[in-house]
Amino acid sequence: MFFKTPIGKFNQIQSSMFKTEIKKLESMARKLEPSQTERASARKEVILYTENFLNNIEKIKAFNYSHDKGQGLLKAPISERPISMKKAVQLIKNNVDYPAANPASGGYLGYIPGGGVYYSSLGDYLAAVTNRFAGIFYTSPGAVRMENMLIQWTAKILGYPSNCGGNISSGGSLANLIGICTARDTKEINSKNIDRSVIYLSPQAHHSIHKAIRMAGLGECIIRLVELDKGYRIDSGQLKKQILEDKRKKLKPFLVIASAGTTDVGAVDPLQEIGMLAKAYKLWYHVDAAYGGFFALTKKGKAKLKGIELSDSLSIDPHKGLFLPYGIGIVLVKDKKRMNATHYYQANYMQDSLSENDEASPCDVSPELTKHFRGLRMWLPLQLHGKKPFRACLEEKLLLANYFYREIKKLGFVTGPKPDLTVVTYRFVPKIGNADDFNKELLEAVKMDGRVFISSTILEGKFTLRFACLSFRSHLNNVDLLLKILKAEKQKIERRLKV
Ligand SMILES: *Cc1c(COP(=O)(O)O)cnc(C)c1O
Repeated sequence: MFFKTPIGKFNQIQSSMFKTEIKKLESMARKLEPSQTERASARKEVILYTENFLNNIEKIKAFNYSHDKGQGLLKAPISERPISMKKAVQLIKNNVDYPAANPASGGYLGYIPGGGVYYSSLGDYLAAVTNRFAGIFYTSPGAVRMENMLIQWTAKILGYPSNCGGNISSGGSLANLIGICTARDTKEINSKNIDRSVIYLSPQAHHSIHKAIRMAGLGECIIRLVELDKGYRIDSGQLKKQILEDKRKKLKPFLVIASAGTTDVGAVDPLQEIGMLAKAYKLWYHVDAAYGGFFALTKKGKAKLKGIELSDSLSIDPHKGLFLPYGIGIVLVKDKKRMNATHYYQANYMQDSLSENDEASPCDVSPELTKHFRGLRMWLPLQLHGKKPFRACLEEKLLLANYFYREIKKLGFVTGPKPDLTVVTYRFVPKIGNADDFNKELLEAVKMDGRVFISSTILEGKFTLRFACLSFRSHLNNVDLLLKILKAEKQKIERRLKV
């Protein structure tokens, strides 16, 4: 409804009262725009702290035990009264950046590291200061072009066609979700056929895959966990057998998900063989390459990932394999029309943006509308460094994993499979006593030391230690230090147990 109001004397008085009130609020509201000198002084504190952090990164522990676990933050509740940047930085330093794991450290060799290259932080700074609206081509063609260019660059590395669809997401979990939702719609899975529809997975699939299946409304599908070979890779013979059996039962096989680098052991499934089966039996083929995808920049990695180009969709994490700070993943979908069909929406208030369609807008291929302009944090380091150091760093990590695999054996540890990429699993089996307890104690001792950080998993029911090398700051010295600590702590436990 549109209203028409007459303008009288009363309204004029009201209007001047309004203006006084507005002006009063304006002077308070304008405090949100710090002056040039205020900006400089705030920036100085941040730079002081971050420079100190970076200059001492080799000395700052990879894990710090803390009793209060950042509780100091609660002593400074958000209130009407502002605090100084100096105080804010102190709060961050003591409560956020001190307790527990420090993924920026080269000694961080647990879970899946990445590190966070510096120029990304400047990319985030630029993106936040100018605050371009990167969700729609119409509002920021440059930002969208930049992101689409990075998606195409990634597609080329993985052997995807240049006209594929893609999106820069917050990480691998969202990327997997986008891929799986697209698979659901393409294969027309709905309430009428869902309980006959079959998804094939590795028992080693990342938990974000299970989450995505549930969130995509596919929780009622039949989920087949395919048997693995000795290297924890999907056994493609077993996969074929299972598909044929399901077809005989008049079920509807529609999706197979493989991993290019599992989390537990870093295994790469037989991507080519699975791709051929997917094609033969008309399954949507999704590859979770969140951890392993960027190894395709290296010669050895490219050979390992052969067949990834056969997939219909894949996820890959620049905050892992490109060492960017957390918060950036990529999903690629070969047929961009399918991706668009699942994610687009048209609303009246969006009508101004509809005429421009020469570049796909991120909002039409993802659940997000307003989004962080993530492209800049990827574009800037790639431009400022060029590709070479990234490739060298990945090659170095592959060799370090092989080095660790050999050296840890020499220390008498039992290892899992020879690493496909940069994860090595290992455990020590003492002559007497419980091996699980021994390794738990060893993990605790490494954490207490804190110079390196490792994580653990359960493999075939056994408590197993993991070495995962992917931080751009992890070099030979960090790996040698881990070996030294493991050797010393193992001996300490043995002495105590009188082995
Ligand atoms: C890290 C990872 C994920 C999840 O990605 P996030 O970026 O943490 O959301 C999925 N799959 C694999 C294999 C991973 O390593």
